[in-house]
Amino acid sequence: MHPDLERLISLQRLDTAAHEAERRLADEPERETALEARLTSARQEVAAAKERLAENQNARRAIEKDVAMHQGRLSKFREQAMAVKTNQEYHAIQKEIGFAQGEIKTLEDAVLERMLEADELTSALKRAEAALASEQKAIDADRKAMAAEHAELHASLEQLRAERAEIVRTLDPHALRIFEQVSKKRHGVAVAEARDGICTICHVRLRPQVFNTIRKNEEIIQCDHCNRILYFVRTPAQPATDAVTQPAQ
Ligand SMILES: [Zn+2]
Repeated sequence: MHPDLERLISLQRLDTAAHEAERRLADEPERETALEARLTSARQEVAAAKERLAENQNARRAIEKDVAMHQGRLSKFREQAMAVKTNQEYHAIQKEIGFAQGEIKTLEDAVLERMLEADELTSALKRAEAALASEQKAIDADRKAMAAEHAELHASLEQLRAERAEIVRTLDPHALRIFEQVSKKRHGVAVAEARDGICTICHVRLRPQVFNTIRKNEEIIQCDHCNRILYFVRTPAQPATDAVTQPAQ
């Protein structure tokens, strides 16, 4: 293979790796935002569960206040009942006592209902808190992995830049100029494999004599269509696997 073509292939490999590393680095803020959103959502679940429990407790306290109010009335009626003079007064007071007792019974049932609901809401809060704790743990691990990857990506970029500089130093300036121009125009991909008579990136069919020249890998040839520098990969001969086996008679 032409030494400059070999260098150009290496240069492309380095640029592609560097591009990928840069893309991962550029994605970091978005990944961090996604982690933060997960945490926020878990925190909101806990806050909502606390809110529901607080509402339940407020409702229970309000009912208990009503119970106390009716109990106050009840004891007042009982005192009055001792002081009644007539049967008529006595029956009237008994009616009031019966009514207050009925109210208290209804309200106490409502308190019981709220207490049962509170048990459920307390378990729901515990579940939400456990989910938040486990989410926090998972996110801490993700952040740690991201920080490690961040350092690795920077180290690998530095390494790739050093290797690139070394190749550029020995590469023919004209070949480098072609590479840089095409790379700029073609989103960082200046080199393409030619296979089965086509450019594998833009898929344009190459003229047979051009493809034959490319197969030798002895010249720097660009694709007519996308201008990428083309090379050919010699593959080991395919074993004959296409023989059709006859089904047994
Ligand atoms: Zn092409």
